[in-house]
This record gives sequence, C-alpha cells and structure tokens, in this order.
Amino acid sequence: MAKNSKSSKYVYLFGGGKADGDGKMKPLLGGKGANLAEMTRIGLPVPPGLTITTGVCTYYYANSRSYPKELTAQVKNGVAFIENLLGKKFGDMQKPLLVSVRSGARDSMPGMMDTILNLGLNDQTVEALTRLSKNERFAWDCYRRFIQMYGDVVMGVQKRAGEDHEPFEVVIEKLKHDRHHADIEDTKLTAGDLKELVKRFKALIKERTGDEFPQDPWKQLWGAVGAVFGSWMNDRAIVYRRKYNIPSEWGTAVNVQAMVYGNTGDNSGSGVAFTRDPATGEKVFYGEFLINAQGEDVVAGVRTPEPVAQLAKEMPAAFKELEGIRKKLESHFKDVQDFEFTIEDGVVFMLQTRNGKRTGLAAVRFAVEMEKEKLIDWKTAIKRVPADQLDQVLAPIFDRQAVKQAKCIAKGLPAGPGAASGHMYFNADRAVEAAAKGQKVLLVRNETSPEDLRGMIAAEGILTAKGGVSSHAALVARQMGKVCVCGASALQIDYAARTMTVAGVVYKEGDPLSINGTAGEVYPGIIKTAASEVVQVLVEKSLDAKLSPTYQNFKKLMDWCAKVTRLQVRTNADNPEQTANALAFGATGIGLCRTEHMFFEGNRIDAMREMILAENVADRKKALAKILPYQKQDFVGIFKELKGYPATIRFLDPPLHEFLPHDDASQQDLAKKMGVPVAKIKQRVKELHEFNPMLGFRGCRLGIVHPEISEMQARAVLEAAAEVQKSGIKVKPEIMIPLVGFKKELDLQVAVVHRVAKEVMAEQNVKLKYLVGTMIEVPRGALTADEIAQTAEFFSFGTNDLTQTCLGMSRDDSGSFLPPYTELEIVKTNPFASIDQTGVGELMKIAVDKGRSTRQDIKLGICGEHGGDPASVEFCHRLGLTYVSCSPFRVPVARLAAAQAALK
Ligand code: PEP
Ligand code: MG
Repeated sequence: MAKNSKSSKYVYLFGGGKADGDGKMKPLLGGKGANLAEMTRIGLPVPPGLTITTGVCTYYYANSRSYPKELTAQVKNGVAFIENLLGKKFGDMQKPLLVSVRSGARDSMPGMMDTILNLGLNDQTVEALTRLSKNERFAWDCYRRFIQMYGDVVMGVQKRAGEDHEPFEVVIEKLKHDRHHADIEDTKLTAGDLKELVKRFKALIKERTGDEFPQDPWKQLWGAVGAVFGSWMNDRAIVYRRKYNIPSEWGTAVNVQAMVYGNTGDNSGSGVAFTRDPATGEKVFYGEFLINAQGEDVVAGVRTPEPVAQLAKEMPAAFKELEGIRKKLESHFKDVQDFEFTIEDGVVFMLQTRNGKRTGLAAVRFAVEMEKEKLIDWKTAIKRVPADQLDQVLAPIFDRQAVKQAKCIAKGLPAGPGAASGHMYFNADRAVEAAAKGQKVLLVRNETSPEDLRGMIAAEGILTAKGGVSSHAALVARQMGKVCVCGASALQIDYAARTMTVAGVVYKEGDPLSINGTAGEVYPGIIKTAASEVVQVLVEKSLDAKLSPTYQNFKKLMDWCAKVTRLQVRTNADNPEQTANALAFGATGIGLCRTEHMFFEGNRIDAMREMILAENVADRKKALAKILPYQKQDFVGIFKELKGYPATIRFLDPPLHEFLPHDDASQQDLAKKMGVPVAKIKQRVKELHEFNPMLGFRGCRLGIVHPEISEMQARAVLEAAAEVQKSGIKVKPEIMIPLVGFKKELDLQVAVVHRVAKEVMAEQNVKLKYLVGTMIEVPRGALTADEIAQTAEFFSFGTNDLTQTCLGMSRDDSGSFLPPYTELEIVKTNPFASIDQTGVGELMKIAVDKGRSTRQDIKLGICGEHGGDPASVEFCHRLGLTYVSCSPFRVPVARLAAAQAALK
C-alpha cells in the first residue's frame, strides 16, 4: 500500500480485506470512500479500488482546476494495486480492467454528483470483454452505457433548453423504431442493435461537441476524475448544498473501483436495499432489485424494480448471503444502512453503504426499536432523530371520510408518507413559478432527475409514473419530508401537450390532484387532510393512545428527552385552545401571549378601534372599559388551562395602524357604530399614518404615552389571576413589557403594573405573586441590559424584532432580497428563521452577561420564531437560557432539539 507521508497522500486503497482508510475518515475520503474501506476491513465482499481524497478537490479549486503533482503517480500506483489483485490490466486486450468512477462527498448527496461505469472500454477492449464473458450482447451493452454516461457527464452532451428528453435517450428511441418498429424494452436490444447504438452515440458526441469519444483508458480516467471534481460546483450540487447547509469547502472525493456486473444474465442483478423500511421504520429487509441490470438502472427509475424479498425465490443463495450482510451491517454500524449490491453470476458484491435516509416516522421508530434491541442506548436514540424531521410525525393525513368518497385513479409505490393536495405541473420550472405565485403544487413527472430539485422543493408532493422506492424522486422526497408516490404506471404523461391521461381521462396541467404517500394512491381533485396519529391522540383526543404504535414511539422519545433536557420549552399561545395543544405536546408554560391577537376576535376590534381613534383620555378609557372584560375572560381561560404553569403575557405591542380600518367600507361601518361622521374617522386614520410603523408608535411607547392602556391590561391579567387562584388553581403571571430600549421606559410601565396590582389585591382580598419583565428586542435594550435588569425580573428575547433591528432588515419586506442573499451566501440561512448567531446572537450574549451581572438569577427566555428552530434552540442552550418558546406544533421539535443540545 502507499508509503507517502500523510500530507501528500492523496490516494487511499482498499481491497483484499485491507484498506488504507476506515469509516471514521469521512471528511477526507467522503462518505462512500470511508465506508468502502470500512466494509473491506470487516470482511464484506467489496471489489477493490482507490479513493482520491477531498483534499484534491480543495486543491483543484484553489489552483485553477489543476492537481497536486504527486497525484498522477499515486493514481497509477492505485490502479496497479487493483490490477494485481484481480489479475487484469487497464486497457489490456486480453483481460482488461474496467472501473467505475464515482463521486463521494462527506455527507451523501443523492443524485447530485455524477457516476461513470465501465470505464476502460474502447473499440478493442469491448472485443476482449466479449471473449471473456462469452456474451457479445453484454459487452456491447456495457460499452454503449459507458459512452452514454461519459458523453453526458464528461463531454456535456445533455438536454438543451426546451428539450424534454435526454439526447442519448432520443437516439435509443429512434433506433428501436428504426430496427424494431416498436418501443421495445432495453433488454430486448440485440448485440447488433447495440453495436449500431455505439456508432450512433459516437456520432452524436461528435456532432454536439466536435470531439471524438476518447479511446485511451487513461484519458478516459482523467476525464472522469475531472468531471467528478467539476460536478462539485454544478448548479444542482450547489442547490443541494444550500438546502442542507453543506459548506462548499468540504469538497468531494472520487472513488475508482473495479467493475462488477449485474447485467451478465439472469443469474445476475443489481439492487438497493435498506436494513429496515425507511418509510415506515418497520424492521423488514426492504429494497428492490432488477435482474440482469446495472445499479444505475435501479436508481434511475426507468425500469420498475422488484421488491428485494422476491430474491428469496429467484436467487436463494444470494438472498441468504444478503440477509447475513444486512445483520452484519446493522451490528457493525449500529444504524440503519442503505446499501447497494450487485450479484454477478450468483456472487454478491457490496458497492456502497451509508446511514439510510429516513422519514421522520421511520427515524423515531428506528431509534426506539434499536434501543429496545440494545443496538444503541437511549441517549444515542435521542441523537438519531433529526429534530426538524419530527415535524413529519405530526404531518397531516387525508381526512378518512373525505378519502372514502374520493376515487383512487392510480396506484404507485408509497415513497414519502403524508397527504398532499395541489395543482399538478409536469415541469419543475413551471411548478416553481406557480408556487411562487402562492399556488400549492404537485410535481408530476415520468421520473425525476436532479434537475428537478427546485421543482421538488417548491412542490407539496411529487408523483412519478416510473421508478421505484429508491428512485431519485423517492430518495429526495423522503429526505425533504415531501409526500411522494412513485411508479404510478397508469399515468400517461405527455410533456408536449402538458396532459396526464389515466384510464382514458385527460387531466391538464394546473388541474387539482391529491396523493397519499403513505398508501401510494392518486386522486383527482383536492382532498381534505386530517391530523396525524400523534395529533389525533394528543390534541384531538380522537384516537386511543394504546392503538397507535406511532404515538407510543413518539412518547417514548419525548420521555427520554425530558430526562436530559436543561432548556425548558414553552409555547407562544394566545388562547386556551392553543395553550392546551402545546401542553399536550409537553410545553411547560406560555413564553409569549400576544394580547393583541385577542382583539381580532368577534366584535372586539370595534372597541379596540374606538380606543385607538379616541382623541382624549376620557374617550379612550371608555373604550378600554369595553375591552377589559374580554381580556380578563381570555386570561381566565388561559390560566385554567395552564394549571399552575407560568404565563408570560405581553402588553400591547404592534403598530396601531394594524388595527385601523383602511378601506372606505369599514371606515363607514365604524363611523356608524361609533356614531361619528366618517370624515372624522378618515381624518384620524390620516393623523395616525406612519412612514415606518415598525419603528414607530408601538411597543411600550403605546403604554407610556397612554398609561391607561397598560392599566387596563394589568387589571385584566391580575383580576383573572385572582379569580383563578380563588378557584384553587395556581397561577403564575409574568407581565412582559415589549420593545424596551431604556430602563426608564420599563420603570414607568412597571410602576403602573405595581399600582394596579396593589389595587386588585386589595379589592379582591388576595395575595398574588407575579413577575414583571421585558422583551429584549432592540439593540439598545441588549446593550444596556445591566441597567434594565435593575427593574426587569426576566428577559425574553424577541428575536424577530431583534433580527429586524440588528440587521436593519424589515421582517415583512425581506422577501424581495433575502433569496438572492441566500443564493450569494451573504447569509447562510434565513436570519428570520434561524438566529444569526454571529450578529444577533452576539447581542443576545451581551444581554445575558449584562443582565446576569446585575441580577444573577434573572430568568431568560426567547419567544421569537427562532424558538422552534433546532439550530437556534441549540444556541439558546449554549447561552444558558432558561427556556425557549415556540408555536404549539413546534414544541416536540424544540424539545428534541433541546435534549440533543444537552447531549452535545
Ligand atoms: C419578537 O419580536 O421576536 C416577538 C416575539 O414579538 P413580535 O413577533 O410579536 O414582534
Ligand atoms: Mg417583537
């Protein structure tokens, strides 16, 4: 094996039971390369090969697409190593070595990078392969596949703008019609057909590129290596990296490996399998294979493969070996594996293994069951479920009644669970366009390819007519948590006419359609969706917990989370129902009750508007008196629901213009109700107009200029607290003053609260415990937190406003420039979704430190939308906050993220 010093070692070898690398070396060897080495080490049948490190990729881009000088010799040495093990030679006329060239980044990027098979074939070696395999058809099939892949990936012969089909596929179709006058299957092409195809492919390459297809295997190899490194920067790889936050610095490795063949006849085949079902999580050997085919055929989804269980009948010995491999993989890697295998003349070879992508549902089940099987411990189980994916466990399903009345028009494979409805589009760009206009869309294709990625991201769900559960569409959909049905073969899609025909009925692009990715069903029209089982058990209480294993797994995971978490999870809830939902998901209080949300219910808005439009204190107080009983009742409901958990109630905050009647009809209506001329209303609305309402008369400024508003709100909170406390239920009100930037602002408001509290306690003859604190949501508040903490008993970070004011980016208007900002990587993620840790986060850190310097045990929370974002939750844990607060349905995600943060 290679003897170079570590820094200049660019090529790692594996084969014959030994390997230079191992499974831990993913940063250097990529996921594929590292696991090929690991599988070799544990004695699995891996064809020998070499891995060119990710360091070469980095070098390549740092040095105007050139290689380190040592690389040529190391690759040569590596090829010699493979040659020696197999007794074959690269480019040899007798026993030619043929190799595959594949990319392999640190994290797998399914379908994103390019693969080339059968490299080493040329006009001479194809004859040698014919002799060796005694199978002319096989040899020429390999050759034509190689030219096709090489032409596409290395020489760039691809679909041009406006073309719906790959040019090589067009040549195949034409040949079938020229020579057979029918659309026969690829397997029916004769050796003669394939020879002709090779000729036509070469001609196509010459016509489109002006270059000949290269005959020299070394030239082929370096072309392929360059193409793999080049593909790291192709559009779809960039899109993928952006979506999954993979830094471009990581680079990809290149794996060059001896070919094995699944297409030598009916005793051969290729497959993709999972050690357990990645859609449902069930412990079954799951996957699919194609007899007499290369691996690419299975993944490409062009032919629909057979379930792997079928192998037990068709190749029992190979199946038994695969079963053994399945067990060995799980007991070694301690996680569900997604692996590729090839059976060549009855002999099994492993080509890849990686941790299997899974749905949220499966992730939870894997984790819980593997803990039970003692493959992993419960802490590992917590780490195994990506917090964001837990969302899918709460995803909607079709309403049972509604779906009974709907007619299933086609069936396919259930590839991504959940229910989705939308308008169908047959092309990714048009789907993206429609989604940008606010339409819910489904992407419907014969099969998808990485070019469709943007369309898949934009779609609610994906439906394909061809392909299996490990096709590109299925893999990507599962990872994105998209609903997906694959291989619904009854669909006849006409891209040109933009129609889909099913059993004689024609559906046009834009027509509504529904798919059930759990059952693999397709329905015309939009079908009402219903809540997930977890939601049915916890929220709707319409399903018995004992009848739902999904719920039980979910509960087990949440119980484990509770054992390790330090950060509590509260909820943003404005009414008793939301509160109840959040508590059912395990929230331990309300972190933000936006009192103004209550003003929009029923005819309360009228009293509110009256209050805003009032021109003097007396009129304002009159309107406030109307609002008081409503507010109080809301708080009573919330306190009762909380049963002693704390409730942070924020005083009126939004810019008043949000409440004003702006159109003529509602102004007329209000004038009538208030008994004032409409002109007066119009005049007042004009007076209240602001150029920058978000930086205007809002937040604590309202209560400071009009203390009677805060007075009413304090009274509503405290009277409600008194009432509920008297009924025997504990209450923990925490009154929160918004948008504070000066200590004096808070002092003034706190004085009002204390005064009213004294009054209420005397009137009601009760003692109430309550806290008064503030939001930290403007930079000045954070920077002077030590002063503010002299008054504030708690801080809650309002990271929506803090982001808006720290970045100087309007939270409501950033849609116009944030997408290009993300694209240009000015921001890595949307700062309104995930905390900008270096900017906004720094302000938070300053506020935490300063707040604690004044009040050591100050209670600290966050209630911006970031409270439900896993990366932000982890950040809050590191900051040492007491709790995060998020919307009710995000509570499980935040709980899991908080537990994971505690385990880091
Ligand atoms: C915030 O600013 O983060 C916050 C929670 O308040 P709002 O979104 O209501 O402005
Ligand atoms: Mg705010």
